[in-house]
Amino acid sequence: YFKSYLHPTRLPTMATKRIPSFNSHNPATGEVAGAYPIMNAKQVNEIVGHARNASVQWQKLGFAGRKKVLLAWSTLIIKRIDQIAALVSLETGKPVGDAKLEVSIAVGHIGWAARHAEEIMRTAHRAPGLLLSNMSATVQRSPLGVVGVIGPWNYPIFTPVGSIAYALAAGNTVVFKPSEYTPGVGMWLEESFNEVAPFADVLTTITGLGETGGALCTSGVDKISFTGSTRTAKIVAAQCATTMTPVVLECGGKDPVIVAADANLERAVDATIWSAMANAGQSCIGAERVYVDERVADKFTELAVELAKTIHAGAPGDGKYGPATMPSQIKVIQSHIKTAIKDGGSCAYGGPESVKPPFVQPVILLDVPEDSAAMREETFGPIIIINRVKTMREAIDLANASSYGLGANVWSKRQGKRIAAELACGMVAINSTFSFAAVASVPFGGVKDSGYGRVHGPEGLLEYTYPRTVVRTRFNVPLNLLSFKRKTKEENLVITLTRWLKGRFG
Ligand code: NAD
Repeated sequence: YFKSYLHPTRLPTMATKRIPSFNSHNPATGEVAGAYPIMNAKQVNEIVGHARNASVQWQKLGFAGRKKVLLAWSTLIIKRIDQIAALVSLETGKPVGDAKLEVSIAVGHIGWAARHAEEIMRTAHRAPGLLLSNMSATVQRSPLGVVGVIGPWNYPIFTPVGSIAYALAAGNTVVFKPSEYTPGVGMWLEESFNEVAPFADVLTTITGLGETGGALCTSGVDKISFTGSTRTAKIVAAQCATTMTPVVLECGGKDPVIVAADANLERAVDATIWSAMANAGQSCIGAERVYVDERVADKFTELAVELAKTIHAGAPGDGKYGPATMPSQIKVIQSHIKTAIKDGGSCAYGGPESVKPPFVQPVILLDVPEDSAAMREETFGPIIIINRVKTMREAIDLANASSYGLGANVWSKRQGKRIAAELACGMVAINSTFSFAAVASVPFGGVKDSGYGRVHGPEGLLEYTYPRTVVRTRFNVPLNLLSFKRKTKEENLVITLTRWLKGRFG
């Protein structure tokens, strides 16, 4: 399957000219995995134009028609899971088993969006209030038209599908720009969708670097659903502002794990080390910092080190997790380890020597000061920092002191809900990790530097719609305030009513 996509027929224009292109790589070996066109603004605009034409037909297909197509797509993806998992593994370096899990969860999201779109977008009836009781008030939901999705490389199926499936189910067509590290996976999504699509241009993948993503932002799409780093998100939001294009921003995190004295330590350690190290630590919701009650801190660390010793990074088929997909991230990981130690932290397991590009072996750091860059910035590597706290109050305050607010994990038999309610973040898992990402019915997203807007669940689906309010006269009443024929006694009646009811008309 791993053919080169670089053939002129893929391009809408410039077929005879030399086509600028870029390569994707196998990060475990550095070998070229494929070559893809770098699309320019003209080509992107042309594709968005085709998607806009197709959106009329796609909307006309209705919920039942779209559901059929989306469910057929999910069936096809499951049928081809070996093929797509191999491609994800090739471009990201993650183990094939991890890629299969990712694909399975993405399929769950496609099914959920397809099955629930109609009910979520059903017209809502609202109370018109006493003064306007002769009216009916309704809120309809309309798809936006064309949604531009810009995706990252770390979960190249699960993450974009969390936007694509919901946007499609709501009645939009989609133009998808995958990360330049995983363009093959992006093309696979388009090609597999086209096998079940009733007509062309419902889901189109465009390939290229940052500029191609920038071109999508200003192409006139009706919304951009962006997932990636906070740094790029700010550029995307600024670009979108020039064309008044609304945005959903799903960005980075520095997720805390709070471990209370009454936690099941075995389970807490198992889940936390997995959350921090799986996918080579390249998870937006991966554990990066632990605040553990000092009464159980030594035990927690001992168990964590014991477990880390059994984990080894290596190429797919060899390691429990793979290489750093993006070679430049290695420098960030290395600098965070060194800075943490320089700032006063210590190594419980591994250290600077664990960085052996393209792999990073597990690292556990202890007692790193809160103002260290390693505690403040997203590391995106298989590193976990364990800091001890005296009380859960201190743990909550430290967890919230971050500029990020994506997810959090709480480990406690009795205090989970209480602690969760105080955390300034978009998602909390109590006595588990990552689980909220797999539940299709709940919104996913963050606050602060982790972004705004939501994907998944009804909230995520509604991001790709707009509300249209329709207020209709059911029967005429003698009182007509919105008329030049209005009389003073009618005005007085309204004022008297307002006084009596203290403004409570609803
Ligand atoms: P990135 O910001 O480097 O790139 C993301 C996407 O933006 C890519 O497709 C890239 O080509 C594109 N892009 C780059 N410059 C652009 C520009 N000027 N205009 C438009 N698009 C542009 O992020 P990444 O390295 O691919 O992904 C890793 C980051 O994503 C991490 O910070 C991680 O935490 C975050 N992430 C967040 C979530 C979430 O749901 N919150 C999920 C996965 C990853």
